[in-house]
Amino acid sequence: MPLKVAFLQLASCWGCHQSLVDMHEKLLDVVPHLEIVHWAAVVDYKYKDLEALPDGEIDIGFVEGCSRTEEDVHHLKVLRKKSKAVIAFGTCSCFGGVYGMANSYSIEACKERKFLTADTVVEGTIPTHDVPDFEPFIIPNDEIVPVDLHIWGCPPETEVILKVVGGVLEHGLGTVVSILQEHGEEYLWSEVLGFPVKTQCDECERTREEKKLTVIKRDFEGIPDPEKCLLEQGYICMGPATRAGCGVRCPNAGVPCTGCWGPAPNVRDQGSKMMSALASICKDIDPEDFRKMVPDTVGTFYKFFLAKALLPRMVKEKSMEV
Ligand code: SF4
Ligand code: SF4
Ligand code: SF4
Repeated sequence: MPLKVAFLQLASCWGCHQSLVDMHEKLLDVVPHLEIVHWAAVVDYKYKDLEALPDGEIDIGFVEGCSRTEEDVHHLKVLRKKSKAVIAFGTCSCFGGVYGMANSYSIEACKERKFLTADTVVEGTIPTHDVPDFEPFIIPNDEIVPVDLHIWGCPPETEVILKVVGGVLEHGLGTVVSILQEHGEEYLWSEVLGFPVKTQCDECERTREEKKLTVIKRDFEGIPDPEKCLLEQGYICMGPATRAGCGVRCPNAGVPCTGCWGPAPNVRDQGSKMMSALASICKDIDPEDFRKMVPDTVGTFYKFFLAKALLPRMVKEKSMEV
């Protein structure tokens, strides 16, 4: 019996779905084992078709993107009801992703930027008809409905998707769900799917010397030494705070990791962890100078994780108490 799967797109750039299509001929290994029962963005299904399915009809519901609008939240809840297992597919779906950074601004400011003041807008207006209302904050999908498994990455790598789908096909969905319920997600990733439970730095082959920094560089400044740790060269590389699994893709290509796989195992808050790792090697930099060298603190430390981060929540909760 083929596995019945559905793909749902919430607020997203479609890059995660694109990475499915990018499997090219590797798709031929898995497609015969899948029955796609909903994929509005690719096949001509409508949301009413998803709503009309019996509850629990779908084996795995893959969710791309975050819940930005009330309509997103509704579709997420419908998919949960219709699916035996739900997979948060991609960093936006796991943590809010780059969209989560909008939590730093009011909805009014976001609308104004998008529809009126962005450089690409000509004679803009803020739409008011036939558009769903925005949620006041982006709340990660797994805090809206139970999520069985997270596939990290912006977008997830083809090999990772194949490994997860291959693992479900090999062991059976029932077994995989039982493993998740009994042992948790980390166990499934490491013991069943064979992924490292480590940080990016643990896997990175660049050399480290415990250097103290006197300057922080932007990515475009200078040409990094191809052998040495990027962080020790002054580039903020999120490797110490980020989960391994992508193959240290960015540092291997000469650019710092920006953290799309989310917090490393046993790290609750990716940005705070990175700031504390930096603090130990930046003691010689004056805090004011540091601020000038890192002008976009949120974008640097919380590019993908702000919607799940602790600090903004504490501020929000405090402001609601007043
Ligand atoms: S995780 Fe990245 S690729 Fe996927 S939808 Fe979000 S921004 Fe796009
Ligand atoms: S900080 Fe970045 S470059 Fe340095 S070891 Fe870690 S992953 Fe590699
Ligand atoms: S190196 Fe970092 S930013 Fe690059 S793909 Fe891996 S986790 Fe994402």
